Formats: sequence, structure tokens, C-alpha cells
Amino acid sequence: MTTETTALLSIVIPIYNEAASIGSSIETIDQVLRDAGIPREFILVDDGSTDDTWAALLRTTTALPHVRVFRLSRNFGKEAALCAGLDQVAGGACLCMDADLQHPPQIIPEMYRLWHDEGFKVVEGVKQSRGEESKMYRLSADGFYGLLHKASGINLKDASDFRLLDRSALEAWKQMPEKETFFRGMSSWIGFSRTQVPFMVAERAEGESKWSLLQLTRLAFNAITSYSAAPLYVSSLIGLIFILIFVLLMGQTLYMKFNGLAQDGFTTVILMQLIIGGSLMLAVGTIGLYVEKIYEEVKGRPRYLIESSAKSEDSSSSQ
Ligand code: UDP
Ligand code: MG
Repeated sequence: MTTETTALLSIVIPIYNEAASIGSSIETIDQVLRDAGIPREFILVDDGSTDDTWAALLRTTTALPHVRVFRLSRNFGKEAALCAGLDQVAGGACLCMDADLQHPPQIIPEMYRLWHDEGFKVVEGVKQSRGEESKMYRLSADGFYGLLHKASGINLKDASDFRLLDRSALEAWKQMPEKETFFRGMSSWIGFSRTQVPFMVAERAEGESKWSLLQLTRLAFNAITSYSAAPLYVSSLIGLIFILIFVLLMGQTLYMKFNGLAQDGFTTVILMQLIIGGSLMLAVGTIGLYVEKIYEEVKGRPRYLIESSAKSEDSSSSQ
């Protein structure tokens, strides 16, 4: 890694409605990297913001010499915006981070060193504390990652999107064609020599988190179905168990009937109806969810659409 381009770090940031803080956030990050003497470029993706984010991004292209900005045609979501940025990477490595400075730029020089000097292909930022998050959030996040670890063998507990990927790891990641991506999981799935750097999650620079409960649920579901067919097995298993119980009960009912002991049996009938109906619905529903995913993938639509882009006059890297 001697030439200028291979030492270049491309910083990819998805941005949605961050007009109030984005300018100063980029300057803060740039300052840290300049002090550390890291050759860098910024790839800033406006994920269809409805405020003045795009104007603020255009200003950064005049304020700094190594910025490229892209505006998606609408809000595609953070994952798609990340993809858009990753497709533009020109450096020998890329670093993904949030726009709100919750991923502290101060540890980037250490991440860069681990890649550049020690040759790690993936450097993951690992969350130490989750700032202001509530107990309820912590509990459901722990439960979710525990489940995902069991189902897929990939441990994403405390993982974040704050990670640095060598060009080769990035190319491997790009080979995955699915339209619905889950960067954290997919960039773990690829393997490659990796190391971790702990960081404390900072407070948001400004504004509020943009994730709604529905979006988070979607992300969680997407993460599980992308890595494992376990839910399909679970519903089949439930179905199987109920069928066994059903056979036993049938035997018992017939025995009673032929011995003249037949009871009203109404409760049993109702119960069986409910159980069988319920487990069937569950199984069909689970299959439906996977079919929906297949449908999404088969449509083969692009992950995102770029409406416009701009870059600094001198968009080459600078010290
Ligand atoms: N973001 C985005 N598109 C969206 C929602 C969020 O690009 O639809 C960006 C946002 O601007 C930020 C990052 O994704 O840079 C993380 O978002 P946020 O801070 O709202 O999420 P949290 O930190 O709560 O995970
Ligand atoms: Mg945030």
C-alpha cells in the first residue's frame, strides 16, 4: 500500500434531514483526519431529505476540496443510501459512519492504522454504551441479536455500521446481489481478517433519531430472513407437534366411542380447531413472508436512484 490511491480513505455517510448539523459534522470529521494526516475523500449521500440538507451538502463541496455528494431521488432508507455511497468508493478502503457524530471521529485514525499499517481487511467499531437508549430498547435489542446469533451463527451484538472495509472486502460485499441489504450483517458474513475497536456511542449532534418502530421491525425481520430459514423450520415443527397430538387425541376419541364412553367432547373439538387453525395460519404466514422477500428480489429493481450529484472543484484527495 504505497501509492496515493490505495492509502486513500473514502468516508461514506448516509444523510437524511440533518441540515442543522451536517456542515459542522463534516468539518469536525475532516479536522480529525487532517490532524492525523490521513488522505481522504467524503462521499455524502442525501437520502431524499425534505429539509435543506442538499443545499448544506453543496456548500461542503465548496468549503472542502475532497467531497462528492449524491442526492437520491427519494427517501430509500439508510441501507440503500449506504449502498449508493459504497458504489462510489474510489479509495483503498472505505469507512461508513452516521452523520450525527454518534460514531466518534476520534477513533478513525486508530481504525485507519489497523488497516493501513497492520493489514486488517475489516475494522469494526463496537458499541460500548448506547448513550441515552432506554432499558426497553436495550432489552429488545439484546433479545433480537441473541435470536439472530442462534438462527444464523452471526453475532451482531453491539455491532454497528461504523466500520472500515478494505477494497477487497468491499468488492466481496458488492458481489451480493440482494436488493434488501443489511450492511452490518452482510459485511460480517463475508469474513476476511478483521479486528474490533470499541467506541462509546455519543449523543446525537442535533435532531432526533429517524427510525420508526415499524422501520426497526422491518430491519430486524430482514436481518433474520436474510440469514436463516429458521422461522420456516419453527413453524413446520409446531405443525408437526400438533399433528402428533391430534393423532393421539383421535385414537383416544375413537377408543371412547367404540367402548360407548363417548363424552360430549365439545371442548376438545373447539380446542383442536383453534390449535390447528392457529398453527396453520402461523406456518402459512411465515412462508408468505419469505415469498414476499423472494418477490422483492425477483423484481430486480435498483437499490436506489440518484437524482443529482456534485463534487468539489479539486475532488482528488488532500492532506
Ligand atoms: N438515515 C438515512 N436515511 C433514513 C434514516 C436515516 O440516510 O431514512 C441516516 C441518518 O441521517 C444518519 C444515519 O442514517 O446519518 C443513522 O440514523 P439515525 O441517527 O436516525 O439512527 P440511529 O442513530 O438512531 O440508529
Ligand atoms: Mg444516530
